[in-house]
Amino acid sequence: MTIYRSFIGGKWIDASSGKTLPNVNPADTNDIIGEAQICTREDTRRAIEAAYAAFKEWRNTPAPVRGRVLTLAARLMEQHKEELAQMLTREEGKIIAEARGEVQRATNVVEFCAGETRRMNGEYIPSELRDNYAYTIKEPHGVVGLITPWNFPIAIPAWKIAPALAAGNTVVFKPASNTPACAVRLVELFVEAGVPDGVLNLIIGSGGEVGDEIVNHPAVRAVSFTGSSEIGFKMYQEVAKRGIPFQAEMGGKNPVVIMPDCDLDLAVEHTAAGAFGSTGQRCTATSRAIVVGSIAEPFIEKIVERAKAYRLGPGVDEASEIGPSVDEAQFNTVLKYIDIGREDGATLLCGGKKAEGDGLENGYFVEPTVFDNVTPDMRIAREEIFGPVLGIMRVDSFEEAMAVANDCEYGLSSSIFSNDYNTITQFINEIESGMTHVNSPTTGGEAHIPFGGIKATGIGPREQGSTALDFYTELKVVYVDHTGRKREGNLY
Ligand code: NAP
Repeated sequence: MTIYRSFIGGKWIDASSGKTLPNVNPADTNDIIGEAQICTREDTRRAIEAAYAAFKEWRNTPAPVRGRVLTLAARLMEQHKEELAQMLTREEGKIIAEARGEVQRATNVVEFCAGETRRMNGEYIPSELRDNYAYTIKEPHGVVGLITPWNFPIAIPAWKIAPALAAGNTVVFKPASNTPACAVRLVELFVEAGVPDGVLNLIIGSGGEVGDEIVNHPAVRAVSFTGSSEIGFKMYQEVAKRGIPFQAEMGGKNPVVIMPDCDLDLAVEHTAAGAFGSTGQRCTATSRAIVVGSIAEPFIEKIVERAKAYRLGPGVDEASEIGPSVDEAQFNTVLKYIDIGREDGATLLCGGKKAEGDGLENGYFVEPTVFDNVTPDMRIAREEIFGPVLGIMRVDSFEEAMAVANDCEYGLSSSIFSNDYNTITQFINEIESGMTHVNSPTTGGEAHIPFGGIKATGIGPREQGSTALDFYTELKVVYVDHTGRKREGNLY
């Protein structure tokens, strides 16, 4: 049995609670992958102290030298791509092709951040005073707490750890409790790449205990969180008491607008991929298809046909197209929302239940589900489900489509299918989301492009791309007077 331990001050440690949590394959609950040792507040404090002790040396390490460690980490991730992908599929459930894609994305982000260490430039600012000038320096915060969800258990930790380390911070990383294997392996690779003792600490344990300790400990100078809006907003209130920087990427309820002039087959294929890919367990998953006018009937007919054609199965099987929900709780949440959709009056067109069949008996598989006649007031139109469930919302005009699309507390991603330039441009201008896509799914992103949402989805600077280090650095302004004289005239 594999035991997952936490990593504090350069050592893999036994958790002091003596408690463990089984790590279960969601595609086959008889497959127990390992056991995670569950840390306590006391263990967490030790991790924070180790990160604090390591900070000075790491921040004074030249940024390009820190970058070399990240470059090596990226190479190691590349070398271990298949092993990481297999582990990810077994632990989280996504199909192996998606797992490979996730590992590649993570590798790209680490590589990108390594390059950023050679571009941590400040700014030279000429003064209005003779023989004076000013400049800015980017400095790390100190110890940063990184708290991550289970749905991208390699990519999301990588896209927080890499910029945090690049900027010279030291890290206490708390992964989701149900994906310890990916967290442990990722940290092992960073350590193999040469991250010094104490610079990167991993602490496995519950959000309520370990996570809460990270958020409230005075030595933690910034917190970056990805997860549900419910937890993120509570956390925001906690960190606000200490006035420290906070970054959160949270839930989504992403719309796609289907215009009558679109390429119908493309719209169907991409909407299905956005809704059912990764079992709907992406923050950017398509959950509302807002269908305009006469295209509704052919679109609905084709999307139902597409949903029924998906091959469900364990992600390790290369032929599987959709894997299971991550665990029993998530599986039950999806089925609960399907019941709510029915009770609220939406029309169930396909799916709507646990998937049956060979190889699915012991997994948390849900049939790809399509509801028609979903209205903006229904809970399935407003709340994040995080499963393979798509709601069709019929509208009569583009203006109505925009009103429905924006009538949502979240603002992560969106998409439009149209071939009319003016409609597309108007959509880009008016849609209330941090990211938007044209004639492509609501999902997906690239390592060198900023990622994140607005409204109740995102707080703080964007992650990744040119903005990746923004959250992890403070700006210091330096004024230099080289006159050697007492200043005269206007003193501000
Ligand atoms: P979650 O339940 O909010 O948990 C996220 C992390 O927070 C986990 O590590 C969790 O630990 C921890 N946590 C829970 N309670 C805490 C507390 N009181 N104090 C500190 N930490 C606490 O989210 P999830 O179910 O793992 O992930 C799914 C959610 O993530 C969805 O809403 C999805 O949209 C969102 N997400 C957003 C993005 C984005 O970029 N916008 C990307 C991916 C996912 P435990 O695991 O121990 O509970």
